[in-house]
Amino acid sequence: ALRNPGQPEFLQAVTEVMESLWPFIEEHPRYAEHGLLERLVEPERIVMFRVSWVDDHGSVQVNRGYRIQHSMAIGPYKGGIRFHPSVNLSVLKFLAFEQTFKNALTTLPMGGGKGGSDFDPKGKSPGEVMRFCQAFVSELFRHVGADTDVPAGDIGVGGREVGFMAGMMKKLSNRADCVFTGKGLSFGGSLVRPEATGYGTVYFAQEMLKSKGRSLDGLRVSVSGSGNVAQYAVEKAMELGAKVVTVSDSSGTIVDEDGFTPAKLAELMEVKNHLYGRVSDYAARTGATFEAGVRPWHVPVDVALPCATQNELDANDAAVLIKNGVVCVAEGANMPSTIDAAKAFEAAGVLYAPGKASNAGGVATSGLEMSQNAARLSWPREEVDARLLQIMQGIHAACLHYGKRSDGTVSYVDGANIAGFVKVADAMLAQGVV
Ligand code: NDP
Repeated sequence: ALRNPGQPEFLQAVTEVMESLWPFIEEHPRYAEHGLLERLVEPERIVMFRVSWVDDHGSVQVNRGYRIQHSMAIGPYKGGIRFHPSVNLSVLKFLAFEQTFKNALTTLPMGGGKGGSDFDPKGKSPGEVMRFCQAFVSELFRHVGADTDVPAGDIGVGGREVGFMAGMMKKLSNRADCVFTGKGLSFGGSLVRPEATGYGTVYFAQEMLKSKGRSLDGLRVSVSGSGNVAQYAVEKAMELGAKVVTVSDSSGTIVDEDGFTPAKLAELMEVKNHLYGRVSDYAARTGATFEAGVRPWHVPVDVALPCATQNELDANDAAVLIKNGVVCVAEGANMPSTIDAAKAFEAAGVLYAPGKASNAGGVATSGLEMSQNAARLSWPREEVDARLLQIMQGIHAACLHYGKRSDGTVSYVDGANIAGFVKVADAMLAQGVV
């Protein structure tokens, strides 16, 4: 805490991981040698830079850009770019730290990184978004590369923004290699990448339920958020027979007791992805029930999928979900549950998957996009989806292996943290003190 003042999210993420690791390290003391833990909590490099651009009124705007290059131990830095006014060093350091373990869990050769800006895309014109993306890359380009650091999307950065950034990257570098993932299909994107995080989260929930002899079929599901991850979590949950009763955004929650349908989801996607509107606009167009300023956690469900942002589900929310009989919580977002909420789920015997395990399908499919680009190939949808499912099943198996407690129950938190750590730590030890 002394070394990282004013960085609560980063300290929260490190605390959560270290609490899991400590008993394991006591049993395997070689992991406390060679300054390994001290090195692991220090990003290898942080780049902070000015992003200046001109808005539609001709005024100069100045934002701050960041790239956290946390660990290259097992491959090029890899992790998304976030555009949101809440972006700061603490948020991006927590995300880059988590990303390092998550990427290890996928078993693909990717290190950990994260970046972004405090730029707020809400209310900006398409021209302003493009000029901002170009200004951002005009500095970022010298720090990234296909074998160095490969960013992707995150909150506020979808296919459109990745396209603008990848285009500027090409112009500045005169190279067409894979420096961004989440690209459009016509210029190197992978099939299933847009769907991958949401689908993967639901695949993971399905695996957890399967381990208890259950399935998603017929269960009630709440989803928070209504962006990229949330939309495809809704789609896959419906496909597997669940009844999805909520989506949300920072303005409030849609509660739909009849359950989402493909037609309702198409309408939501139109509002969010093409009109850049709010869920309240979706409610106005469809007559759905909208609860302003409220999160979805008071709605009774069997399965909760938090897919919006960090710390969106606290101990009180967890208590309400548990009282209402929730059996499974799989995180599509990064660190959406506070530490106390996560502990409450585990103590109550809820199947609880932390984001670094359950939302790893997005970066895994980004890894598959890198492979396809390097081979100058594009794989069919079925092949990418099958690999995604296989990777999620592999992560589930790794969590069971490392997360089994002496009483036979499983902590997915410990499992994910230890499995990710072992791979990164072994790679770091083998490569010496660098
Ligand atoms: P989007 O920008 O597409 O959607 C974000 C959603 O979360 C929106 O509904 C947004 O609502 C809501 N949200 C964002 N910030 C806040 C906030 N401070 N308070 C309340 N609601 C908020 O982002 P993604 O769907 O890509 O990302 C969602 C989460 O999933 C993030 O935690 C991200 O790190 C994580 N993730 C994403 C991956 C990906 O492949 N995209 C991969 C792995 C994890 P509003 O529009 O009102 O802001």
